[in-house]
Amino acid sequence: MNANYICPHCRNYLNVNDRIVISAKNEKGQRGVLLFSIHLGDYEILKHANFEMEENEKISMFCPCCHKSLIDRRIHDNIYKILMQDEEDQEYEILFSGVYGERCTYQITEEKVHTFGEHASKYLNFTNLIDMS
Ligand SMILES: [Zn+2]
Repeated sequence: MNANYICPHCRNYLNVNDRIVISAKNEKGQRGVLLFSIHLGDYEILKHANFEMEENEKISMFCPCCHKSLIDRRIHDNIYKILMQDEEDQEYEILFSGVYGERCTYQITEEKVHTFGEHASKYLNFTNLIDMS
């Protein structure tokens, strides 16, 4: 699938080859670059070995183009958002946890939510999905 991922603020492309490029900051204030898989549900993250992320550490994430925070507090302070466009130009919100080790991703359109990851039930339930629409 030839999807594109874009920043919700500046709408520049975040994907390069099969990776999504995100600027990050750990709880110690150290900054780094994270490369996420473009495949939803694939939680492999590439990073420099010196950029430290510990299990359950909250990682702040920013657009590498406009440097704005990608946080989306509608559901929870741990949730970040980017946008996805599929090959038919349909746009989705992609919500994911900024807590390292939490595997949950939500792909949202007006009608539907697709969830990915073993921790998907942690932040979203049927009630707050209805509240969002
Ligand atoms: Zn941006």
